[in-house]
Formats: sequence, structure tokens, C-alpha cells
Amino acid sequence: MQVPTWKLAASSSDPDELASPYQLSPFPILNTSHSLPRSAISITRAHPSSMRATSFAPAALALLLQLTLADQQQQQQQQQPLSRLRPSHQPPTADEPSPLPKQQHHHHVDAASAPPYRDSLLSLHKSLVSIESITGNENEVGRWLVDYLVGRGYAAELQFVAPSDGTPEGKERFNVVAWPGGHDEGTGNGAGRSSRRSGRADPRVVLTSHIDVVPPHIPYSISDDGDAITSRTMIKGRGSVDAKASVAAIITALDDLLHADSASPASSLSDDVMLLFVVDEEVAGAGMRAFSDSLARMDPPPRPFSAVIFGEPTENKLACGHKGALFCDITARGVAAHSGYPWLGKSANELMVRALDRVLDADLGTSDLFGNTTVNVGLFEGGVAGNVIPERAFVKIGVRVAIGPQKQGAKVVEDKIQRILDEVDDEAFTFTCSQGYGSVECNCDVPDFDTITVNYGTDVPNLAGNHTRYLYGPGDILVAHGARENLTVGVLEEAVEGYKKLILHALDHAQ
Ligand SMILES: [Zn+2]
Repeated sequence: MQVPTWKLAASSSDPDELASPYQLSPFPILNTSHSLPRSAISITRAHPSSMRATSFAPAALALLLQLTLADQQQQQQQQQPLSRLRPSHQPPTADEPSPLPKQQHHHHVDAASAPPYRDSLLSLHKSLVSIESITGNENEVGRWLVDYLVGRGYAAELQFVAPSDGTPEGKERFNVVAWPGGHDEGTGNGAGRSSRRSGRADPRVVLTSHIDVVPPHIPYSISDDGDAITSRTMIKGRGSVDAKASVAAIITALDDLLHADSASPASSLSDDVMLLFVVDEEVAGAGMRAFSDSLARMDPPPRPFSAVIFGEPTENKLACGHKGALFCDITARGVAAHSGYPWLGKSANELMVRALDRVLDADLGTSDLFGNTTVNVGLFEGGVAGNVIPERAFVKIGVRVAIGPQKQGAKVVEDKIQRILDEVDDEAFTFTCSQGYGSVECNCDVPDFDTITVNYGTDVPNLAGNHTRYLYGPGDILVAHGARENLTVGVLEEAVEGYKKLILHALDHAQ
């Protein structure tokens, strides 16, 4: 094991940071390499106290020594031939969406012209989707992924992230950071000149997505329409789109480029590209924030990334950006009284209804790119009985912010809502918002891509820096968090080609 050149900065003296038992260090905990036996890669619980240490080496060793491989089975599964990939399952029922929606205009390849990576792509995707990883419970999929990447010749490191509500005891979760460090020399493509990698890479382009998913778990299934897998074959399951399709397509794209015949981009690829798969995107973005914070603590500071490609479902279109978000609680305080004598009380519910009516009708900001700022009244409660004037009402709203800039856009909207509440009643309301953000713009100026904007949040704003940001990935967000999350083999394969183009484009434009 080599000492990373990207050294861990001295521990922060900020007590808040020290309160975490997890060292959120850059790439600190475990530096695996292909020379380690694969069976040594999975992780058992490390003692939190060992991770508080400024030096991470003991923690890494402790981890390594505790390793036992529980995932051999999955590794084997992942290597199964395609014929064994298709599980027994229910055939699609009539009310399920057709494998090839009409509006779809992807360039499908026939089974006859299936890309050479089809089997490995589908196998990787299946393994990822099959492992439940609802936010908080990302340990197992992270372990599997590290194992897989190391098996493919990558160097991988774990970056532990503080547990969340869903994190089981003893199953710490972590971001996976990997780079093409372990390819053997002399494989004939020049892609794997890993011997020069005497420690930490200095990547120009980062490929990233998230490994957590929303609940509930939905098992993996792949339809067998007819007897062969084609580009129209549908795959279902939780995370099949968001975002394990992106994870699988990103890895496959990079692999394919690394092993491509053309030597010109390959050397730059293996030197300049890094993979980052984070936890907690679906809840708080703690994984990406931890990574971002770790960069800020590095001493000396790392060279800034030139570009970061974020994998999220964008229907294989290049997203010009996404709306911002703001989540707020509104409490109205009134005075309880008998409902027959309403003038003796003050109805908190009535105040809330009148205020929300105005908030919903108000212009909270529009832009050409993102349209209107929209408000969802997501939770509404108040009062105790039909014959009592309510003294308290409580509401949670979720705002999708159509205006920028990223840093202040949400504050503009928050101030507008505050003004409306003050106009309705200048003392009845308490209004508190989470730290929101305005609309997030990404670079969508790449030849040969259709473009799109999306209304959901991503990890894009959680990674600080001036890098060029690309947001792209397979699948449709409209099915992503639903009971029928699905995509076709063709869409997944199209994404591999899209990522390949984006990676090369980003490297070409790297500064
Ligand atoms: Zn996602």
C-alpha cells in the first residue's frame, strides 16, 4: 500500500466536525489495489475510534485485516453468461407499460448488432439493482462495487460517511472513489500504465452518480419477450433507473474507452479520469457533501477538477440544468374559542388557508430555462375538532425554484413568501426554511446531444468548485421513484455511448 500523495489535511478544530466519529477524509480509509486478493476487499465494521485518528493508515489496515468476503456469490453471479442472467419472474401484465413507449426515439440496436459490452453491462446493472440500498443502507452495494471495480483493474478507496436513520448497526456506509490504476501493463492498449500511479491521482474529469435508492425495495426483473434479449427488453426494479443505470453505464463507458484500440485518449483516460459513487443523494446529499468537504480540507489543495459528469435520469439527453429547491415549515398561531363565537377567537386554519391561497397564486419567480417556480403544500394539519376555533395550524411546503443564481435564488423566493405571510397577518406566522438553492445550470453545449431541463434536485450543487458540470443519464425521472421503475436494454446501451462521448469531450476541453 502506498501513501496517497493527496494527503489528509490536519483535522479540523471545528468541534462540529470532530463530533462525527467518521473521518471524512479525501480518499483515506482504504487504498485497495489489484494485487490484493479479491477476497480481501469487503469490509466489516471498523472501530469508530480508529477513524477519528488524524492518520488514516491504521484504520485502513484495521479494515483490511478484518475483511472477509461475503460477496463471492454475487461476484460469480455477475460473471454468469447472459443466458443465466434472466431470472424466473412473472411475465409482464397487460397494464404494465410497453417495453418500447411510442414517444421513444432512441437509436436502438438490434440483438444482431448488440454492443460487445451488452452482457457485462447487463450483468453489472443486475448486480447493482439486486442489492437493496435504500438511503442509509448502502454498505452492501458499496462493498460489492469496490470488489467489482478492483476485479476490473481499478484502484478503489472508501470514504466513510456518517450514518443516517436507515444505517444498520455495524454497517457503515461509504462513498466509493476509484480510478483506472490497476490495469496490467502490456495489454496492448496503453490504457493501463498504472505503475506511474504512485498514490493519488490528479483527475481532470470526475464521473459520478449515487448508489442509494428511494424506498421501497423492488426486486430486479428482466422481461423475456420472445427468446432473446434485445434492445427492447425491459428491465425493472428499484434503482434500475435512478441511478444504478447511470452507475452501470458510466463504468461500462469508461471500461470500453480504456480498452478501445485507439491509444490517443487512453493514456489521458487512465491518468485523468476518476470515478465517484456517493451515498445519501436521495435524502440529504451527505455523501457528496462529505466528498466536497474533504477536498476543501486537503493540504495542499488539489488541482480543481476540469469537469464533472453527474449521472442521473435525463432520458439520455444532456440537461442544461435543474430547478432549485426550498423546503419550509409554516406555523400559524391563533386563539381557541367556541366555533359559535368565532369573533372571540382567531382561527389558525383560516389564516393558513388565506396565506397559502396567496402563496400559490403569487409569482415566485420564472425563467426562460426553467419556467415557473412551483409550490407543493405537502403536509397540512391544524385544529382539534369541528366545534373549536383552531389555535394552531402547521404546513410543510416544497418549492421548486425556477430562478437563479444557485446561491441566492432560493432566498429570493423565501423572502417573497415571508412578505405574503406578513401581509396576511404580521404576527401569526412562524416561517422557517431549510438552506435551499436556486436553479442549477449545467453545460449542455456538446455536439450531438438533445437537451432537456429537469425539475428534480441532484448532487450537482453539493460539489463545490468551478468545474464544468454535465448532467446526463439513462431512463425517465417520471418512472424513477415509482412502483414501475424501468428502462430498456437499448436505453441503457445508448447511455454508454453517450457517456463515452461526454468523457472524451470533457477530456478534450480539460484545462
Ligand atoms: Zn438520482
